[in-house]
Amino acid sequence: MQDRTATNTNLVVFNREGIKRRMTELIPLYAKAGFKDLDLNFCEMMNPQSILNTEQAGAYIDKLMQLKKEYGLTYMQAHAPYPRAGQDPKEMEEKILKAIFYAKEAGVPHIVVHPIKGNIEENKRYYSNLLEKSQNIILAIENMESQDEIFSMRDIRAICSICPSRLKALLDTGHANILGLDIQKEIMEAEGILVGTHINDNKGKSDEHLLPFMGNIDWKKVVHALRDAGYEGFMTYEAMYYSRSLSINDTDMVIKKAFETGIRLQNL
Ligand SMILES: [Zn+2]
Repeated sequence: MQDRTATNTNLVVFNREGIKRRMTELIPLYAKAGFKDLDLNFCEMMNPQSILNTEQAGAYIDKLMQLKKEYGLTYMQAHAPYPRAGQDPKEMEEKILKAIFYAKEAGVPHIVVHPIKGNIEENKRYYSNLLEKSQNIILAIENMESQDEIFSMRDIRAICSICPSRLKALLDTGHANILGLDIQKEIMEAEGILVGTHINDNKGKSDEHLLPFMGNIDWKKVVHALRDAGYEGFMTYEAMYYSRSLSINDTDMVIKKAFETGIRLQNL
């Protein structure tokens, strides 16, 4: 496993004032706090007003690349937008394919694409279509948080079998915890196919996306299982709700706390 904790660019995207800031504004703050490895949050494309849905998208990606160079960062993961109830599937597919294109432009090795609601066979068809329409990037399938979705690493492994070189798994620790799954077992089940993580905590009841040690996940067990499974990737925060009741003025403190928590995780 990598010995530095990474973060999604959405770590401090929410604040009590509801002030919105773009990735390009937040990346320098993460870099200055010590984060070197970032997961680009293309979920912001779900907002119709996102710059990524406009003609300025190319310039925005250029700016991301400039920041990467300026601060010596790696963009080690990206997150594609995902469907919400009532959304036109064609329109969603266009957005996901665009996000895949941007991720490739930014040199990201794999992008997280949520499974669709449905069974393994329906998901095999869904991913095989996406694979056909995109080249040279790994699609990481995330475990979801409810029983009527794809939630286990066993099911993800079954979907990956249609194209083992380009379909891999991503573990969201919080999702597994809500369902009461044994996270260690899930990690072992994903051995060899796990390329990424969404590291977040909760109290086992709702999808709180808190920092580790704020919920009831046994982090020592998780970290040791990742190492034992020969996982080569990062522990990457997807803990964006930890800061939403705090002020935008607390941003530096919020990032610092996350960075220090990352060191604590690595030392378990
Ligand atoms: Zn997640």
